[in-house]
Amino acid sequence: MKGKTRFAPSPTGYLHEGHLLSALYVWAAAKKWDLDVHLRIEDHDQERARPKHIAAIREDLQWLGFSWQSESVQSDHFNRFETRLKKLQDQGLVYPCCCSRKELDAENPKNEYGEVIYQGKCLSKFKALNSDFDLSKPHSLRIHIPDKVIQWHDLRMGDFAENPKLQCGDFPIRDRIGQWTYQFAVCADDIDEQITHVIRGEDIRNSTARQIALMELLGRTEPPMYLHHPLIVDTAGKKLSKREKAHSIRQDREAGATPQELLGRVLFHAGLQDSPSPTDLNRALDLICRTL
Ligand code: GLU
Repeated sequence: MKGKTRFAPSPTGYLHEGHLLSALYVWAAAKKWDLDVHLRIEDHDQERARPKHIAAIREDLQWLGFSWQSESVQSDHFNRFETRLKKLQDQGLVYPCCCSRKELDAENPKNEYGEVIYQGKCLSKFKALNSDFDLSKPHSLRIHIPDKVIQWHDLRMGDFAENPKLQCGDFPIRDRIGQWTYQFAVCADDIDEQITHVIRGEDIRNSTARQIALMELLGRTEPPMYLHHPLIVDTAGKKLSKREKAHSIRQDREAGATPQELLGRVLFHAGLQDSPSPTDLNRALDLICRTL
């Protein structure tokens, strides 16, 4: 059966250069390994997702010359997510957590990325016979993951052996306002959409072991293959992001840039081309294919 990769932007803003680089890696991998490409709009964060950004993602990708074989919008899957949650709950793998942000920060150690390593305070309260649990208080739902090393292979970066219990502890699958978390939504969809190759930026690499652990609990024993690509960095070596006011593709389009100019610029910023000279999509994909 033909494999499938996905491009999974969150519609919380317009696409920028970082997304374009990710898209190039996704489509280059598809070209190299003969994969279908699925466009998944990751609007699990309903507070921040905007319909205008969903429309703009499709339009900007088409304008750049990308095409895809299938697409989905994550919020159409929320019923399926409920069913998956119920199954996990029936197996006793989910517990409510009432810890506030302040408590989480004060009571738990942090990992190298500054994330809380949750020590399971609410699990012990929940398990206790005389539980003082007040479910009328805002609470997130955490997945109780096993204390086990996950071995996985990155197609570019090599082998990893990581224990998510030590990296982050039991993590939320639904947040305090009832929204599905990225970790849960992405795992459910990578399973349901039968994704065989996950191609994404290095900034998400530390989520991979926890996603493999969660996918196992959701019933997928053979995880997808992973490739985490290098990010664009600015001159100070910092990651470029929306927050740091990276130009959006939309802004550049409106200012009269051509797709070839944007492609040349992103390859240059990623260190894949010596100058920002305009490049067509096929040449850009071939350049990246050679690095895979
Ligand atoms: N939605 C995520 C983002 O826009 C990508 C998630 C993934 O590829 O796993 O950064």
